Amino acid sequence: MKKNKHMSLSTKIFIALIAGAVFGLLINFFLPTGLLKDTILIHGILYVIGNGFIRLMQMLVIPLVISSLICGTMSIGDTKTLGQVGIKTLVFYTITTALAITIALALGMLIRPGMGLKITSVEIEDVTVNESVSMADTILNIIPKNVIASMAEGDMLPIIFFSVFVGILLAKLGSKTATISRFFAELNDVMMEMTITVMKAAPIGVFCMIARTIASIGFDAFVPMLKYVGGVIFALALQCFGIYLLLLFAFTRLNPFTFIKKYFPVMEFAFSTSSSNTTIPISIETLKEKLGVSSKISSFTVPLGATINMDGTAIMQGVAVVFIADAYGIELTGGMLATVIATATLASIGTAGVPGVGLITLAMVLTSVGLPTEGIALIMGIDRIIDMLRTAVNVTGDAVCTTVVAHQADMVDKEVFYSTNDLK
Ligand code: ASP
Repeated sequence: MKKNKHMSLSTKIFIALIAGAVFGLLINFFLPTGLLKDTILIHGILYVIGNGFIRLMQMLVIPLVISSLICGTMSIGDTKTLGQVGIKTLVFYTITTALAITIALALGMLIRPGMGLKITSVEIEDVTVNESVSMADTILNIIPKNVIASMAEGDMLPIIFFSVFVGILLAKLGSKTATISRFFAELNDVMMEMTITVMKAAPIGVFCMIARTIASIGFDAFVPMLKYVGGVIFALALQCFGIYLLLLFAFTRLNPFTFIKKYFPVMEFAFSTSSSNTTIPISIETLKEKLGVSSKISSFTVPLGATINMDGTAIMQGVAVVFIADAYGIELTGGMLATVIATATLASIGTAGVPGVGLITLAMVLTSVGLPTEGIALIMGIDRIIDMLRTAVNVTGDAVCTTVVAHQADMVDKEVFYSTNDLK
């Protein structure tokens, strides 16, 4: 086969990630604090370019989700198939999260990351925990009071609710609403094209974001926490490269290595942005163009997953619970562990797909078993890097579920899945 002389986008993102990390390390260790390091690089060039790119991606999310969700729902048409897709997705998301937290707790109990830790040896920061919304209100909030306000706020669940509703009605009304249907189909084309165009800048954005993060991280905070960090990383890897790939193979018989290889750039992107929400457009695009997964399914499952399915976050919370309990010398009973599995699964639903929220919902998990929420301060200093890793796992969980559900609905194009094409 003729080798394309242009490098693929995944290779470019990978190179940018490594180069950005090296550049960030150089800044961190070799440049003295001052004008060049802080004002010009960290808060200047890297900040503007990196965040400029994130904004471009964020700008896409809402119109892309609305148009692709309306088009997807409309083309599936019947409510029975939609209901089946919805139920399968919810079951899959819940089970994988419960599995994730169980693995994390088991591993935590095995390595006891907080044992022997002197609380004073770790930097304590102030923790402010937001008031959590009640379960009843969480459910009610799915129905938007004002859909424009939900769009403005970027509230994904009410937007999903409204868009699916519109899609169902457009399918029902058929030719009577042909103009509106076409409008959304064309809007969807525009948003997809915009995603592809913006993605061309991804390597530059990724370089700047990673360089900035690594340049401003305090590595000293890591030393007393190595067991905790190692435990979280190990559990994340087990979930991502063990459980997910096994599930994918068991349900679809598709080659899991092809899947992970093609999906890897999306994981890198989630890693550098720490945001499942910002990753929605590139995830839908990659699933469609590289893995042959119909956007009729992904337009629903990916934004939903970015909002309610956070397996990586649940893993961090599981290890953190054991860590904090040990650090404060509190014994975890079987009942407490069971409660943590339940509350961390719920916390995953309540965690928004933006940076750092997993640490806030950890408060809910800790409170449920009477552990001190001040314990969060112990892991705060190093959470930035854990956030990057867990976000990569969060989005992979969404993509695996999407592929399984789409496969069952016969909406995976195997030719595309096994083809060697790549995004340029
Ligand atoms: N940053 C994570 C995400 O966007 C959420 C979290 O755990 O903080 O998926």
